[in-house]
Amino acid sequence: MLAEMSHPEAYDERCSAEAANRWVPTMNQMLVLRAGQVFNGERSLGQASVVIRDGKISDLDTSGAPPPEGARIFDFGSDACVLPGLIDAHVHLAFDASADVVKSLAARDDNTLVDHLEAAAIRALHAGVTTVRDLGDRTYLSLKLSGRVPSAGLPHIVPSGPPITTNGGHCHFLGGEAEGDAALRAAVLERAERGCSVVKVMVSGGNLTVGSQPHQSQYDLADLRIVVDEAHRAGLPAAAHVHGAQAVADAVEAGFDTLEHVTFFTADGVDADPALLDRIAASGVVVSVTVGSVPDGSPPHPAIAQRMAAIVANHGRMFRAGATMVPGTDAGVSPGKPHDVLPYALRALVERIGMTPLQALRAATSTAASAIGLEATKGRIAAGADADVLVIRGNPLADIGSVTRTEAVFRAGIKVR
Ligand SMILES: [Zn+2]
Repeated sequence: MLAEMSHPEAYDERCSAEAANRWVPTMNQMLVLRAGQVFNGERSLGQASVVIRDGKISDLDTSGAPPPEGARIFDFGSDACVLPGLIDAHVHLAFDASADVVKSLAARDDNTLVDHLEAAAIRALHAGVTTVRDLGDRTYLSLKLSGRVPSAGLPHIVPSGPPITTNGGHCHFLGGEAEGDAALRAAVLERAERGCSVVKVMVSGGNLTVGSQPHQSQYDLADLRIVVDEAHRAGLPAAAHVHGAQAVADAVEAGFDTLEHVTFFTADGVDADPALLDRIAASGVVVSVTVGSVPDGSPPHPAIAQRMAAIVANHGRMFRAGATMVPGTDAGVSPGKPHDVLPYALRALVERIGMTPLQALRAATSTAASAIGLEATKGRIAAGADADVLVIRGNPLADIGSVTRTEAVFRAGIKVR
């Protein structure tokens, strides 16, 4: 037995028998993951063993003690790093990362589309992205997947359902149109009743939708307050898609929990009031920063590409001012953003935003988990957390690029790669 275990009661025979009855046979066995380095979501623990039982992390050992009897041992070697499964705070499983995602979405009925969502989710999981927050599907299809058991081999999915948008507004084709007090309240309640985990609102226009202007607001502050208050009453956080400065300011004022994109689009460029950047940092709202694209992927949307340097400069300024920032890749929206793009976003956080590798790793694990309300179960290698684990080759604290060198992935204690 491990002498230095912090929770020896975890090895009680009685617990084991109870657990065996609760879980499918593949999850019965105790697993021990060993590597030269364990990053626990906050810091590096150096060489350690992670004990997994019944789909959860039951213990951590840094003493080098022999593993519990009967455990199945995975020794990944001294140059491997075990870290919490990564969290992508902004994906679209319904988009297929093609050159025209709106067109290909329109060509699929719900039956074929749900298969595509599943394939997209599996692709994310195999890159170590064990949790995805889907901020816009069609007809609530992501909920069909999110209800499946962990052994289905999918990441944990945090679904918003169709984003709430104005009539004919940004992403109206996803089916979330609602305007006016009553319709907005009804839209939030429908999402809560269906079991969505977050309410997404298109506060400004966007680049994907013909006729939509990213720099223009779709809703005014009074509308946004209604949506946020209704969401919070229902126990759901609210996520705001925001490009224009007015939309950003109103979303902060209305009390949204996360701001998505935050590009400060004007009609022909980018313009951010430094006072607003500081206000975002001081408010504690989470900025879900749209970074990450695969190497040799196609360039971003021309409207983004032309503004990229200014957008990145503002994000860096917000970060230095103390804003809480997590990566939300917008996976699925373009060919440069397949559903397994998140590991590349960590490099972007370092090279563009100015995070240290440690800060980038925290942003995609423990900070992201807290940002989307999953701090109790996700984003940490700690006793009691879900055994969603990524193993990579290399030292990500020295070279953040090593997070793309996937060695193994565990989801709820099941080795999926
Ligand atoms: Zn999006």
